[in-house]
Amino acid sequence: MNLKVRKIYEALFALEDLREIFRQALPTGLDEGDEEQLSNGIARVETIIRELKEGKGSPIKYAEDRLELRTREEEFININPIQPGGRLTAEARKALIAYGDGYSVCDMCLEGRLDKIRKPPVDEFHAELADFVGMDEARVVPGARRGFQAVTSALLEKGDVVIVSDLAHYTEYLAVETAGGVIKEVPSGPKNIITGDAVADKIESVKDATGKLPKLIIIEHFDYLFGNEHDVYGVGKVAKDYGIPFLCNGAYSVGMMPVNGKKIGADFVVGSGHKGMAAVAPSGILASTDEWAAKVFRSSQIVGDVTGRRFENKEPEMLGCTLMGGTVLSMMASFPHVKERVTRWDVEVKKSNYFIREFLRIEGNKIASECPRKHTLSKVDTRDSFDRIAKTHKRRGYFLSDELKRKGIVGEFAGSTRVWKLNTYGSSWDRIKYLSEAFIEIAEKYELPVR
Ligand SMILES: *Cc1c(COP(=O)(O)O)cnc(C)c1O
Repeated sequence: MNLKVRKIYEALFALEDLREIFRQALPTGLDEGDEEQLSNGIARVETIIRELKEGKGSPIKYAEDRLELRTREEEFININPIQPGGRLTAEARKALIAYGDGYSVCDMCLEGRLDKIRKPPVDEFHAELADFVGMDEARVVPGARRGFQAVTSALLEKGDVVIVSDLAHYTEYLAVETAGGVIKEVPSGPKNIITGDAVADKIESVKDATGKLPKLIIIEHFDYLFGNEHDVYGVGKVAKDYGIPFLCNGAYSVGMMPVNGKKIGADFVVGSGHKGMAAVAPSGILASTDEWAAKVFRSSQIVGDVTGRRFENKEPEMLGCTLMGGTVLSMMASFPHVKERVTRWDVEVKKSNYFIREFLRIEGNKIASECPRKHTLSKVDTRDSFDRIAKTHKRRGYFLSDELKRKGIVGEFAGSTRVWKLNTYGSSWDRIKYLSEAFIEIAEKYELPVR
């Protein structure tokens, strides 16, 4: 446990208590009681800061009753497969402090539409988002999954067929299910990679069986099971040839690497804020071409039968507004950093491959993902190495988690020493080297041969 980290949290919380005094006081100023509370509070902050400086005092464990502090990003290297791209920037954490209140983005909403708010500049952010993924229109949504759902809801009638990958994320299946659609899976084959040809074959077989074309194709840019890159450019071309709209699922790419939907040939690009854009959950983006924006981002047409009320400035697929506070503000605050970091994706891939090469020096270790790696998410197979130790270790599979934690590494699937996933995204070279050495040291400790 790192005392200084805990002291920083304690100081932040003590400052929040000061802030609360102003939230309760009259706008004309603090009364005597408030002033006393304030000066006591300031003294408390000073004590905590002194303890922080000197590395003294007792560490706090809880933010609130039973809510433990979350310090894994401060005290550990986190290799969790889904978390690294959604780790907040300092800017996002500041925005969250300032805009954590419920509908905080709505202070200056003049048109009743989130994407038209000018202060803070949510309208500008939307325009930039569309540009960022090479599309015409974009909306923020509560997670990639809600992006899929908006599209399936707008495009599908009951019984319509949607083509997905056999490695597709469950949220794609559910988005098709809620719209009454039917799933047809494209095989990724022995290489675990979806090709344009495989998608074309599936379209043909759907056409043969039903006499109709599928209504939508959803394929991942990178899947969540292997972190393999799929031929979305090839899929885009096939989709165009058949005239079927193509949703490119960029949950594992948007915000981490450059993505250009029009170059891919996609009609929709979906990204995840909390997986790839250093934003608070649930957040994400749905971007589309002008052609499809007219359908998915259409205006409400409904009319109240008694009141005659209409809501023509609202978009039904968005249920009006989507992210109304800390979520969208965190996306916006991280965005300058995100735009910059995607240009350094090649370095992230280099670090990923460096780690994998070192990891493979441990005899018996294998990589289930494509190699060389094109992503920082990798599926590793340690059945012939660490799992052999686990078989006789009194802690079983947990021995590896124990050893990693001792070295300040968390995020692997606890207790798993067979086939599991890790993600090195955003780790500095120092951390990557430390991580590589940690696995080798654990192997050596248990006398696994290291090449
Ligand atoms: C994580 C993930 C999702 C879901 O993203 P949310 O933003 O949590 O809805 C969808 N598809 C893939 C491939 C993913 O990896």
